[in-house]
Amino acid sequence: MRDDFSEEVKRTVAARVGYRCSRPACRALTSGPQVDPAKALNVGVAAHITAASPGGPRYDPARSAEERRHANNAIWLCQTCGKLVDNDQTKFTEVELRQWKRNAEAEALTLIGKTEVASVETSRPSWPKSQGVYITESSETIPGFPRVLVGYRSENSKDFWGGSFACRGTLRLFDSHGWAGISDFPNTMNGCSAGVFMIRWRAAHPDALIASTLGYSPELILGETKIGSFGYMYSNNCEQPLFRFADSPDSNESTLVDIYYELKFWQATP
Ligand SMILES: [Zn+2]
Repeated sequence: MRDDFSEEVKRTVAARVGYRCSRPACRALTSGPQVDPAKALNVGVAAHITAASPGGPRYDPARSAEERRHANNAIWLCQTCGKLVDNDQTKFTEVELRQWKRNAEAEALTLIGKTEVASVETSRPSWPKSQGVYITESSETIPGFPRVLVGYRSENSKDFWGGSFACRGTLRLFDSHGWAGISDFPNTMNGCSAGVFMIRWRAAHPDALIASTLGYSPELILGETKIGSFGYMYSNNCEQPLFRFADSPDSNESTLVDIYYELKFWQATP
């Protein structure tokens, strides 16, 4: 038996986040007009933070049916992110989803009644003009990818060369290893103006310290290294993002840590 949400609960959780997806990296609008002027389109879902039925993602047998159906147990997501969080429940924990929900509601509260320009300025820092290696204090302060970049175009899941490439993933770092890059990253050593890439990343454990840098390859580091648990990088098609465990004198017991990342590739246009 599934403990589904009522229509009223769904409407409420959607309205509390301004009908935007609550996943920080997404924030897609989930509502809009249909051709029929009397109807609205909805591409959002009220996802269960802990599953509606046994065997579902993040199911917690300690909760009552009433708790599982309550608005407290619902997070508003777009359909894509709804599938994402239910397919990988080890990556998207209850704690993390609750954090997303709190942040999305807090953002909706600060933006309520503001104009579009003000809302863009207040939601996140903007992507920097200069290429380089950047570290932030939290996921919330990693800039979102820009929608446009003058002189370039970008297509979902396509690299600099128009080939298909997975633009999000996990990179596992082992503390005994050196620099590691994303498998088959499509950089080449010539024509360093054909494209640029952007990457946003964070460590799976917020207290894990990761060194990040840019290089031709793990053996050929080019510039500065920055250490932190959250960050982003921006460079051209000759370079790739590289990561390793940061040296730390009082190193804890961990021998590996995962990094979650998202990439955006841009191809040069006339
Ligand atoms: Zn989404």
